[in-house]
Amino acid sequence: MRYDTQPKASHFVDGAYLEDSAGREMEVIYPASGAVIARLHEATDAVIEKALVSARRAQAEWAALKPVERGRVLRRAADLMRERNRALSELESCDTGKPLSETLYVDATSGADALEYFGGLAGALTGEHVPLGADWGYTIREPLGVCVGLGAWNYPTQIACWKGAPALACGNAMVFKPSETTPLCALKVAEILHEAGAPAGLYNVVQGAGRVGAALVGDARVDKVSLTGSVPTGRKVYAAAADGMKHVTMELGGKSPLVIFDDADLENAVGGAILGNFYSSGQVCSNGTRVFVQKGIKEAFLQRLVERIGQAKIGDPMDEATNFGPMVSEAQRGIVMGYIAQGKDEGARLVCGGEALERDGFYVAPTVFADVTDDMVIAREEIFGPVMAVLDFEDEDEVIARANDTPYGLSAGVFTSDLARGHRVIGRLQAGSCFINSYNDAPVELPFGGAKMSGVGRENAKVAIEHYSQLKSVYVRMGDVEAPF
Ligand code: NDP
Repeated sequence: MRYDTQPKASHFVDGAYLEDSAGREMEVIYPASGAVIARLHEATDAVIEKALVSARRAQAEWAALKPVERGRVLRRAADLMRERNRALSELESCDTGKPLSETLYVDATSGADALEYFGGLAGALTGEHVPLGADWGYTIREPLGVCVGLGAWNYPTQIACWKGAPALACGNAMVFKPSETTPLCALKVAEILHEAGAPAGLYNVVQGAGRVGAALVGDARVDKVSLTGSVPTGRKVYAAAADGMKHVTMELGGKSPLVIFDDADLENAVGGAILGNFYSSGQVCSNGTRVFVQKGIKEAFLQRLVERIGQAKIGDPMDEATNFGPMVSEAQRGIVMGYIAQGKDEGARLVCGGEALERDGFYVAPTVFADVTDDMVIAREEIFGPVMAVLDFEDEDEVIARANDTPYGLSAGVFTSDLARGHRVIGRLQAGSCFINSYNDAPVELPFGGAKMSGVGRENAKVAIEHYSQLKSVYVRMGDVEAPF
């Protein structure tokens, strides 16, 4: 492999790379070939201990800085990420198998956006003065302490930054555990933050599977847990955090509706459905995987969709012409192929794809099922792969009721040329991150997160500050105390 996939060690703790070969060996596999590209070790108890001790120490030092000084470190880190975008993107592609044509534009760059945005906000985080007649009060916005970040495997750089940037801006430290499937990228985020001036221990990365995550979540020295992952993991982590009354942010899965009315611009609607199902080979939590198409436009939609899927360049992620890569792992390909088999068994009409590709790596062809009904498993469960379910509908009330008939509520999209209808429908859809005549945009300036089982709290935007800080209220009496005796 010609890319720099070899980290100096498995973990980044207390300002330096750290190895402890007593930990279980973890193989990092390049999804486009199946080759082992790095070997790391899971964090031992000693590594976890060092991470937590150094994080607590660094947090006190960091919180004592002027907020603008903290912001400056984050903005310097953003600049370093942008300068190194190509190398970071190549690493992201090695870690995840996502094509460079994606990673060059949405991974380190969106991580840098978060560092820049929250770096800029750091100096503006203030409490307020509250007049109380002769007396008065004020609030102080304080950090929570040590935050734990747990990452999914689909956007390892972005997740490490989306959690780290607001946490650090508020004066917290972070111990981040990437997914064991994609452990490489977060190490670079830690290295860059340290180089930008973050004190040793402020942003630590420890490797391992759920066991390591659970040890961190259960530790009394941890004040907040932010997870990006599946609903079943979310349930476990939320419950463990509740035991210690810790703050949580849960960014979980979805089965989001994308509603296409027959007055929609056909090319844009097809483009939105492609972005919302096949970008990152469908491994995106907010994907609009239930595509409700109004009957009048259905056949034209399917025809144009299949034509455009035929133009996909499936291949080597490192070739910048490639725009569709493999699944992250053999296991994930197996899960996706299982759902495809179930879709066929349930009687959905296979319009295109439906098979694993005959080549090295974990590729699944972009797959579309039509005539899908609400009760089919492929319309109810998150697949997390390139499988679109197209469902028909007749009218607005019907589609809203069906779109909301899911325990999830991460995202929703509407394509229509009637903007009043667009806003009306979005207003009635139960979802946290919505789109009108677009799909899957996630700028740092807009809150991101889910309703219902898809999550708790929001990432990005000013509101993320609420989830990484707490208010202290101070009552100030200006006169004498009147006590009853
Ligand atoms: P998982 O839920 O399997 O894992 C998420 C993280 O939690 C991993 O680092 C995992 O470790 C860790 N973990 C697992 N069990 C525990 C535990 N008991 N205690 C603490 N940590 C634990 O998710 P995936 O990595 O498979 O990612 C796919 C899922 O993530 C999908 O459902 C997707 O929708 C969701 N997702 C949500 C996003 C959002 O913003 N809403 C964005 C991206 C993905 P390990 O896997 O290494 O064992």
